[in-house]
Amino acid sequence: MSTDAGQAPANSAVARARTAQVAWAALSVADRVAKLRAACLHLLAHADELAKLIVHETRKPLAEAYSSEVLGVGDLFGYWCKHGPAQLAPRKGKIPALEMPGKKATVLRVPRGVVACISPWNYPVSLPMRTIVPALLGGNAVVLKPSEVTPQCGLWLVAKLQDVLGEVVQGLAGDGAAGAALVRAKPDLVVFTGSTQTGRKVAVACAELGIECALELGGKDCAVVLDDAELDRTAAGVAWGILTNAGQNCSGIERVAVHAAVAPVFLPKLVAAVQAAAGDVPELVTAQQRAVVTGHIADAVRRGAKVLTGGEPQGDQPTPPTLLADVPSDAPAWCDESFGPMAVVAVGKDDAALVALANDSRYGLGASVWSANADRAQAIAGQLRTGMVWINNHSFSGALPDLPWTGVGDSGTGVTNSPDALHHMTRPRLVVIDSNRAVEPWWYPYGDRMVALMQVLVARQQRNGIAATFRTLQALKARVAEMKQVNRD
Ligand code: NAD
Repeated sequence: MSTDAGQAPANSAVARARTAQVAWAALSVADRVAKLRAACLHLLAHADELAKLIVHETRKPLAEAYSSEVLGVGDLFGYWCKHGPAQLAPRKGKIPALEMPGKKATVLRVPRGVVACISPWNYPVSLPMRTIVPALLGGNAVVLKPSEVTPQCGLWLVAKLQDVLGEVVQGLAGDGAAGAALVRAKPDLVVFTGSTQTGRKVAVACAELGIECALELGGKDCAVVLDDAELDRTAAGVAWGILTNAGQNCSGIERVAVHAAVAPVFLPKLVAAVQAAAGDVPELVTAQQRAVVTGHIADAVRRGAKVLTGGEPQGDQPTPPTLLADVPSDAPAWCDESFGPMAVVAVGKDDAALVALANDSRYGLGASVWSANADRAQAIAGQLRTGMVWINNHSFSGALPDLPWTGVGDSGTGVTNSPDALHHMTRPRLVVIDSNRAVEPWWYPYGDRMVALMQVLVARQQRNGIAATFRTLQALKARVAEMKQVNRD
């Protein structure tokens, strides 16, 4: 395992992965599935060890370590081993038999080669596994660069996968410099999950080297609470959306837009739900993140924001779950990702005002709409500028491998999970077989007959009428007869 941040370890990890990928890609999909199932069982046999490591590195409650990380491992393997082969199966391409007789097209899904997976610390197991499993199934090798904040979880995964799969999975420890070196080592695809700021640097580096990249970046999700929402359930759900993983969640609820008609009743319920959850909310993982959250709260309060509960952390006390109101719309607490156990509430007089509040963000990962009226909620959902919208829930779908996890704007437009992710980790390869022995009309020499044929085809497109189609068919039938004759000769 490489453990320093120089270029050589990155080069060597990519080179080893590239060598191993050749034999891995040569396996049938069924053989890869069998090996991935064995790797899954090996990981699950050590599930308790993994859960403890997650708690050690992230301070998550053990329940969350299992629910949001360990359990997902089995689900990921299960989903991809069952549904991935059909998504990788060759498909027949359509070739018009009359105009282009004797030809068959097949579109294969082939691996890209080496996929670099650069990961953050907030979900150090489930996030990289969302990339690793489909990438391997697609015939790629993977180099994982875990966050320097949670290196052990990532390197543990690599070691356990290597036990079963060998060198086709590689790990590269280190900080941002190691990540940058990994990109410079020229993998074939970089799947980056992390902050918007770092994602931009990765995108530039990839563009300069001509490497494809997928970016899953920060968020500033908004929960939109309508005046017909079931308020007790909504308060419980929104409180969870704000506080799960201590708010260190890319799609954590950081803004709550409440309909004015229910704000006086809903906000006290939300405050109570947030206060009641405090015992289950661990301290933030890094001092740096605590400083960001503290800064957002202090800035908002200095500008006149009202603290509904919580507030700036005191001394070495844990960061308290915090709700703020009357925050100016240009304050970092409203505009920037806080990534902590806090949210800003704002009140809107009608649905249009609530939509405007929710869309007032450069980020666009997720949003939720809380309402008893599914039609009204869906109408609002259709106006939200985000990659994902949940109605009467928030964010939980990240654990479901069939559902795309994706954003727009400063949240990046990469996709993890779902067939879209597998499609991005593989490339289409077209194979066409031509059994027609006649010379094609579009080959040299161009004569009058080819011009006439093309004019007939254009006329069909222009008019798309019965007469044109009839003439086209006549011309094409004559052409087919001619070709058949050539093929017989
Ligand atoms: P980060 O951007 O600081 O680091 C992410 C990874 O990038 C780390 O492994 C880091 O070492 C590496 N890195 C840093 N500089 C690099 C460079 N120049 N080139 C290549 N790699 C480099 O992010 P973080 O603090 O670890 O994670 C938190 C962020 O991740 C939050 O913004 C959160 O919203 C985001 N996130 C997004 C999603 C999503 O699916 N959209 C999921 C989880 C986290």
